[in-house]
Amino acid sequence: MKTETLAIKTSKEQNEGIHPVSSPLYLSTTFLRNEDGSFSDGFRYSRLDNPNRRDLERTLAILEKGKVAVTFSSGMAAVHALFQSLSTGDHIILPDDVFFNVKMLAKDIFQRWGLSFSLVDVTDEEALIKVITEKTKLIWLETPSNPQMKITNIKKITAFAQANKIMVAVDNTWPTPILSNPLEMGADVVMHSTTKYFGGHSDVMGGCLIFKTHNNISNKSRQIQLLSGAVPSPFDCWLLSRGIKTMPLRVKSQSASALRIAKYLCSHPKIESVFYPGLPEHPHHHIAKTQMKNGYGSMIAVLINGSGDNAITVSNNLKLFTKATSLGGVESLVEHRKSVEGINSLTPNNLLRISIGLEHADDLIDDLNQALKD
Ligand SMILES: *Cc1c(COP(=O)(O)O)cnc(C)c1O
Repeated sequence: MKTETLAIKTSKEQNEGIHPVSSPLYLSTTFLRNEDGSFSDGFRYSRLDNPNRRDLERTLAILEKGKVAVTFSSGMAAVHALFQSLSTGDHIILPDDVFFNVKMLAKDIFQRWGLSFSLVDVTDEEALIKVITEKTKLIWLETPSNPQMKITNIKKITAFAQANKIMVAVDNTWPTPILSNPLEMGADVVMHSTTKYFGGHSDVMGGCLIFKTHNNISNKSRQIQLLSGAVPSPFDCWLLSRGIKTMPLRVKSQSASALRIAKYLCSHPKIESVFYPGLPEHPHHHIAKTQMKNGYGSMIAVLINGSGDNAITVSNNLKLFTKATSLGGVESLVEHRKSVEGINSLTPNNLLRISIGLEHADDLIDDLNQALKD
């Protein structure tokens, strides 16, 4: 054979006799077709399925106690697929403080395709009941909410929704399955931005939908995954599968540090208020206590005494906290949220959102202490 042929054919059997402890990465976009036309293990083409994605989806379904998981290239692609699984004329209900990109997706994209939506304070049951119509097909929940950490009673809303044949989806990105399992509380679908805690190292984007049962909506979401093609790459899946192995430890440790830091911030005279569901004085602590386990998460929001400028000064003074958006990574982050969400955001201008990482809580407290000094 000539060099060109050897260059292509010699590495073909290299997997034989190798027994890796860590999962291999299958970058192949296409898979061998057998003599009878069938495909071994069902793998044909990587947009449709691949070994790393199948492995990840199995783990995700198990962790969230669901029947089927469908993965995407980002959290927003997962939300998009769920909304697209509904029909023209359907109505959805979103929390008034829902993650701002979800609100924009409903408003700027899906409204034009005939999906209507209402924004409501979902923690106020009477207000929620008022916006329900016979067209309502989906109630979207996000708890704790972003960035003010309101807690929604999932069991109460799912019981009510079931009686009215309305599907409930929960964006469980912040609690992760380590702190909360909404499917066990009656929700039909859980959505994650796996970009956050699942990856855990701020180096991979991803999203997923996990369904309690195989049903019409889960089938449609799968079809949208396969046909729209917003799929995670094999390497994305591999990184997420690796991240998941340490996620329980990371989330528990980050939550424990966050509780300590939230308590410290409460006692600081330069802080106007602290939003953290683990604090007994949080208005929804009693609900958080019943539907969260292993801790209350690593996200804290604080109002700094004074103006937005005072808040920005504090964030600039911090040395261990990186000024950046996002959350769930090993490094602590701080963010002036209003300037990220834009002029129409309801977030107070003196609010800083803090994501606690895996640095020692003592060091993070020392850093906050010096940043709040002048
Ligand atoms: C980050 C995030 C999303 C969006 O996920 P991407 O992976 O950035 O597309 C949705 N909901 C919440 C709560 C998030 O934190």
